[in-house]
Amino acid sequence: MNRRIVGVLLSTLSTLALVLGVAWWLTRPASPPNVVLILIDTLRADRLGCYGHSKETSPTIDALAERGILFEQAFSQAGWTKPAVPSLLTGKYPIQHGVFSNRSVGKDRRLHTDVLGRDHETLAEALQKLGYQTGAFINNPHIRSFLGFDQGFDTFEEELGDAADIRSRFQSWHSRLAADAPFFAYVHFLDPHLPYDPPASYRDRFVPEAFRDFDTRSWRRMQSRSGEADSPPPPETIEAMLALYDAEIRYTDDEIGRIVEALEESGQFENTWVIVVADHGEEFFEHGHLGHNRSLYDELLHIPMVVAGPGIREGRISTPVELIDIFPTVVEAAGGQSPDTVAGRSLGPAFSGQSLPDRPGFADHRSEDGIWQSVRDQGHKLIRFTPATADSAGPTPADPRGSPTATKPRRLESSSAQVFDLENDPHESNDLSDTIDAERRAHLEQLLDDWALAYTTHSGSDPVVVDEATMERLRSLGYIK
Ligand SMILES: [Zn+2]
Repeated sequence: MNRRIVGVLLSTLSTLALVLGVAWWLTRPASPPNVVLILIDTLRADRLGCYGHSKETSPTIDALAERGILFEQAFSQAGWTKPAVPSLLTGKYPIQHGVFSNRSVGKDRRLHTDVLGRDHETLAEALQKLGYQTGAFINNPHIRSFLGFDQGFDTFEEELGDAADIRSRFQSWHSRLAADAPFFAYVHFLDPHLPYDPPASYRDRFVPEAFRDFDTRSWRRMQSRSGEADSPPPPETIEAMLALYDAEIRYTDDEIGRIVEALEESGQFENTWVIVVADHGEEFFEHGHLGHNRSLYDELLHIPMVVAGPGIREGRISTPVELIDIFPTVVEAAGGQSPDTVAGRSLGPAFSGQSLPDRPGFADHRSEDGIWQSVRDQGHKLIRFTPATADSAGPTPADPRGSPTATKPRRLESSSAQVFDLENDPHESNDLSDTIDAERRAHLEQLLDDWALAYTTHSGSDPVVVDEATMERLRSLGYIK
C-alpha cells in the first residue's frame, strides 16, 4: 500500500472515528448526576448577594448561581418547616401530604405533631429506586425519623449540630460511598434560625461594635415577660438582629464552600447537581412579627433557589417557580418519572434555555386560629384566612367554599382576604382587597377554590405525641412556650 493510500485511509478512519464519536456523544444516555440538595432553614432570598444583598453573605452560593440557574421568583408552599419540607421532599402541596402542625390536645396539653405518611413517595425513595446511594444530614427537630422523614434514606443522621458538624458528617459519608453508583445527599442547615447566635469570628465581622453583645434570646425573654413579644423594637435593634442573621448566613455559606471543595477534590463536582434552597424565609417585623410560622407574606415565602451542575446552562429565570418543583426536576434528571400525584412541574426545560410557562403558585398555613391559604397569579397575590370554628380543638380541614367571615380574623385586619399588587408593592403593605377590580379578585378567589378542591386529598394524619427531648428542642427554637 503506498503512502498516499495509507494517508487517505487513515484520514478517512479518523474522520469516521470523529463522526462516530460525535454521534455517540450526542446520543449517549446522560449518566444520572449526583445530587446534593442543600436546604438552609429560614433563609430569605434577599439576604444573599446573588439576590441583591449588599453584604458579603454568600460568595459560595453566588458562585454556584454564576455557574447555573438562579430562580429569581421561587416560593415556598408554607411559612415554616413543618409543612414546607414535606412539600420539598414529596413534590406535593401541604393539602396533599397533610403535615401541617403541632397542637396541644387533651387535659395535659401534650404536644401532638403531624407525621409524613409512609404512603407518600419521597425524593429519596424515588432516587433509591433508581440506584442512588442516599444520605440525609439534618439539624431540625421537625425533620425526624419518627416523623416519617427517613423514608428512602440509607443513612439518616438527625439532630446534628451547627453547619460545621453537618458538613463534616456529609464529608465522612461522602468519602465512604461506592464509586459505581450515583448519590443523593439532603443537607439541612439550621444556623440562620433564631436565636441568631453565630460563631464569634462571624459575629465580629458582620455585627457593628455597638451591638456585638446583642443576645436575641434574652431580648425575646424580656419582651415576652413584659407582654410585648411582638411589639416592634427600635430600628437599631432590628439592624442588630439582621447583622447577626447575615453572620449566620455567611457561616453556613462557608461550610457549603467546603462541601463544594470536597466534591471538587473527589473529581465529582462536574457530575453533581448542587441545589440550594430554603424551606421558608424570616420576618423581621415587616408585618408585626419576628421569626416565622405566622403568615404567608413574601418575607416568608420568597426563597432562594439555585441549581448548578451538568446539563444546566447559566442564567437567571424570572418565571415564578415553587418548592414542589424540585422533586420532579431531580427525578427527571435521574432518569425516572414522577408519580401522577406530584403537583410540582419539572424545571428541566429552563436548564436548556426553553421558557417555563407561567402558572399560579399556592401556599398554606395552619394554626389553632385557623387556615391561611394564598395564591399568586400574574403579579397579584391573595391571602385568605378561614378561622377555626370555636368548638374545634385545632385547625379544621378547609371548606374552600365556606364563608371565612364567621369571626373577625386576628391577623388580617378588616377582611377575610388581603390582595396585593406584587409588582408595585412587593413588600405587601397596601391591601387592595376592597379596591381591586371585582373580576380580578373573583378570579384569584376562584383559583384558590379550584386548587383547594383539586388537591385536598389528605383526610388528616395520625399525629404522634412528642417526647420530652424534642419538646425541649422546640422550646429552644421558640416553637412552643
Ligand atoms: Zn424551617
